[in-house]
Amino acid sequence: MQEPALDLVIAALEKIRETRDRLPRASRISLTRLYRSVPDKATLLAPVRERVRVCTKCPHLACSRTQTVFGVGNPDAEIMFIGEAPGADEDAQGEPFVGRAGQLLTKIIKAMGFAREDVYIANILKCRPDMPPGSFGNRAPTPLEMQTCRPYLVEQIDIIQPKVLVALGAVAVEGMLGTRGTMRELRGRWHSYNGTPLMITYHPAYLLRNQAPSEKRKVWEDMLQVLERLERPITEKQRNYFL
Ligand code: URA
Repeated sequence: MQEPALDLVIAALEKIRETRDRLPRASRISLTRLYRSVPDKATLLAPVRERVRVCTKCPHLACSRTQTVFGVGNPDAEIMFIGEAPGADEDAQGEPFVGRAGQLLTKIIKAMGFAREDVYIANILKCRPDMPPGSFGNRAPTPLEMQTCRPYLVEQIDIIQPKVLVALGAVAVEGMLGTRGTMRELRGRWHSYNGTPLMITYHPAYLLRNQAPSEKRKVWEDMLQVLERLERPITEKQRNYFL
């Protein structure tokens, strides 16, 4: 990717400037110009979004979708939440996590001390998995659909470079890591995704189905670990949620 390479060049030139007696070959002006030529993350995401918008790699999904659902939030986010696939609401609105599960995710994000706009939210699949005509609800993406779409997510992560990734539910984990485990063994501890710390927790839809405070507390404990990892201050009230 262009940005880290340029960062390295700039850092090396600055080091030369600071440590050598002789004048460096790059003047302050040329360094400033170099800085200006580094595109911001929103600019880097734009062509990926465009490729997703017109993607037909899964012809059955390209036919059935209303629109693709790329991702939403701050391209400079420290946290990136990853779900499985858009449902009917997301397909209609073009934004991930806007239905009931999404509203719960937004509440969790706010309880963590962030606004929804501060973090980045995306899915493994950018299209809503198609449903037989006349049927209701949503279906989980297939392993092949996830494998086909995953490169777009990898590009998003490479550009955003969040400090922490949060995978929501077993399907998202399977889409990212290619492994199918039980949430009981996966959640609540740190994993790694290409070197980025990855926390695995329950999908908010699971919490909607299972209203037990103990399950909410588990998700909250996972989010406390995320806040600790980001070295964010945690209030007493936050520590005690769902206890
Ligand atoms: N569930 C997901 O995994 N993603 C969404 O965008 C909405 C619901």
